[in-house]
Formats: sequence, structure tokens, C-alpha cells
Amino acid sequence: MGLAATLQNRPFSSPFSTWEGRSSCRSILLCLAESNFTKPSCARYVASALNSGTGPTVVIDAGHGGNDQGAKAKNPYCEEKRICLQTARLVKKYLDQLGYHVIMTRNTDAFIPLARRVEIAKQCDAEIFVSIHFNSSRLPTASGIEIFFYDSQEEKRRTFASKRLADSILTRVLRRTSAHSRGVKKGNLYVTRETSMPAVLLEGGFISNPGERANLKALDYQEKIARGVADGVDHYFKKLKR
Ligand SMILES: [Zn+2]
Repeated sequence: MGLAATLQNRPFSSPFSTWEGRSSCRSILLCLAESNFTKPSCARYVASALNSGTGPTVVIDAGHGGNDQGAKAKNPYCEEKRICLQTARLVKKYLDQLGYHVIMTRNTDAFIPLARRVEIAKQCDAEIFVSIHFNSSRLPTASGIEIFFYDSQEEKRRTFASKRLADSILTRVLRRTSAHSRGVKKGNLYVTRETSMPAVLLEGGFISNPGERANLKALDYQEKIARGVADGVDHYFKKLKR
């Protein structure tokens, strides 16, 4: 389903929705696409969580996978799906260390329909959903990190919590990476819209920017992003308890 059709299906008004037209992340378009839904078996995903703690259940969603490569670039060659999975695995590692119960929507190079990712989160009673993506633009100088949440008029508490989670994660990812901030943004994205728990989608940098791409391919930089995400998740839950 096309972008316009998807947006029409779910009326969305944002006074500062800036993602459209500023960056042409293929991921965003793919996230908006409807996908075929196959009923998932949660047990299949429990394997990803065997070593996780007993804390709140967090779903980490590595964007794209399989035939869906996401954004791509050459020199150095880079596929978004790989950076998503590498970073998501590191996020899981750090959240495991903090005692969270982490479920990954994919832990291999597999195509997982968007509806299935959402259903995994619902069936596992996830308390939050964090999707990891990387950006792309026709403008090679476009750079920085942004994070999206869905502004639902019907689910104000979820919207408020999603924004708080987004603020918490972005602040700490920027602290770790020293990257340029593109801000916390409202966006009508499938996985943040259709989930039922606080949900965010991180765009952790531009694959289309040669300098940023070199960073994104480096393990130490992926670790900075992942530690920032884990810090942000941890801060979100600790603040809830106060
Ligand atoms: Zn993407």
C-alpha cells in the first residue's frame, strides 16, 4: 500500500511532523507498508530471551531483514538491515546485563512482516517496543539521529509514555555518540502505530552520509548507540518507579 493511502487510512495531524520530505529513508516507506500477517508463535521467539532477566519485558525490533535490505550505500558498502541487527543484538546484550527480559523480533537475517513484529510484542506482553533503523537521504550531507513515536488521540496515555521513552532514549544516545540531534518526532509508522504498548522507532544515523556511514559500520560506534538505547530504556523504567 502506498504512502498516501496508508496515511489516509489513519488520519494523522502533527504540527511538527517533519520526517516527510526531509529524509527519504526507505525504511520509513517500508514501515508504512501494509504486510501480510501470519499468526506468530510466541514460543518461537522465547529462545531469544532465554538468557534475559526477570525485569520488564522489552521488545527490540531490528528493522528490515532477508530480502528487505533497507537503505544501501557503496564505498564503503553498507546495508541497513545488517547495521540494524548488529545494533539490536548489542542493545539486547546491555539490557540483559541490566536485568531486563528482552525479546527480539528477529535475531537472524530473516524477513519478518511488520504485522508479525507487532503481534510478537502483543503476545509477549511487552511493556515497551523499540525499533532500530538507520536513515537515508538524497542529500549526502544529511546527518544525525532522530526518534519517532505515534501520536494517538485515542490512546493518550500510550502516546505520553511513548514520547517519554523517545525523549529518554534520544538524550542518552546523543550523550554516548555526540551525534547531531534531529529531535523527537511524531510519525505515522506501522510498528509504532499498531503496537499497544509505548513504542518508538530510532533512526540512528544516515547510511547515505559517507562519514556517518563509516561510523555506523564500526563496532565501537554501534556499541555507543546500543548503550545509549539501553541507558534510555533503563532511565524510562526507573523514572516510572519513582
Ligand atoms: Zn529502516
